[in-house]
Amino acid sequence: MVLCALPLQLGAQEIIGAAQPTKDFLLGKTHFEKDTNFVEIAPQYTVLRRPNNFIQKRTLEAFIKMREAALKDGVKLTATSASRNFWVQRYIWEQKWQKSTVAAGAARARSILQYNSMCGTSRHHWGTELDFNSPKLSYWNTPDGIKTYKWLCENAHKFGFYQPYTVKGPGLREHGYNEEKWHWSYFPLSNIYMQKYKELISDEDLKGFLGEKHIGELKVIEHYVLGVAMPPEV
Ligand SMILES: [Zn+2]
Repeated sequence: MVLCALPLQLGAQEIIGAAQPTKDFLLGKTHFEKDTNFVEIAPQYTVLRRPNNFIQKRTLEAFIKMREAALKDGVKLTATSASRNFWVQRYIWEQKWQKSTVAAGAARARSILQYNSMCGTSRHHWGTELDFNSPKLSYWNTPDGIKTYKWLCENAHKFGFYQPYTVKGPGLREHGYNEEKWHWSYFPLSNIYMQKYKELISDEDLKGFLGEKHIGELKVIEHYVLGVAMPPEV
């Protein structure tokens, strides 16, 4: 029994991080350093340092291949954000909530939701998402930013990545976060988690932070978690 315990436990962790995610995993209630599917991104690829540099192994392998291909075309991809768990996201959200000048209520939540997720609803919980180079809109209008975005649009799909937060408009993505040119998702894993999220998570699972009562009114799951673009081939 004792001899069996460790491999079984490790096997279970492999599954949690991959094809059969638990509710806790989907909600970001994960300690990345203890999940064997997660590894640290090496310093040459990122500005992040422990404990902010964890990502799923498969996402990292795909990112490194994509980064090498981009370098050959004169484009440098540096990870500026990787995985954040529920508790880190709660800290970020509540800081924004407390500093906001918008009257407390749904309008305040909506204003923060332009670019920031409520805890339990961020794709960065899953180890499948990477932000590249800069989250500043101004960078993506510089020659370097324009070249980088063009390269990603033309090539990221070859490595399994796509942009979930595209431009919004009629016939396009209509709800949710504003466009994020820096945010790229490793679709082979993130699509599994999004489908499971749709199946397993409801408003009642999203608790324990300031502003939580506006979740239903703002249709956070429908508009923000599920209201993402899909890759063209899907
Ligand atoms: Zn992001």
